[in-house]
Amino acid sequence: MSLNRQKILARNVEILESETHRISKEMTRGAEVAIAERSTAIGVEDDGGWEASREDSDAGINAAQNCTIKQIENAKQAIRDNVYGICETCGKNIPTVRLKEYPYATNCKPCQEEEEVRANEWR
Ligand SMILES: [Zn+2]
Repeated sequence: MSLNRQKILARNVEILESETHRISKEMTRGAEVAIAERSTAIGVEDDGGWEASREDSDAGINAAQNCTIKQIENAKQAIRDNVYGICETCGKNIPTVRLKEYPYATNCKPCQEEEEVRANEWR
């Protein structure tokens, strides 16, 4: 393994750790804000339509965060298993450039793209 690659892997381990903290903090704060908003809304006449759409958008944000957390957890698991930087699908080394750009990457670009195509076909 080249020194450059080792450096990037070490850097990514740190990024993944700090991202986990940042997102979990954000999610806690988001939940607190939602609770605060709900309690100030008590006693206000409402047909319920506004509340419903509001909750929909909250759910969307949480889903996106959950997805990122899942990716981070996958990457961290790969680090623990000593397979971080190796594509889950084809078993080849994920190029350093890609790891630099996407610290959560657990697939190489061609495999990721193939997966996205498959995901689109399901829609
Ligand atoms: Zn691959």
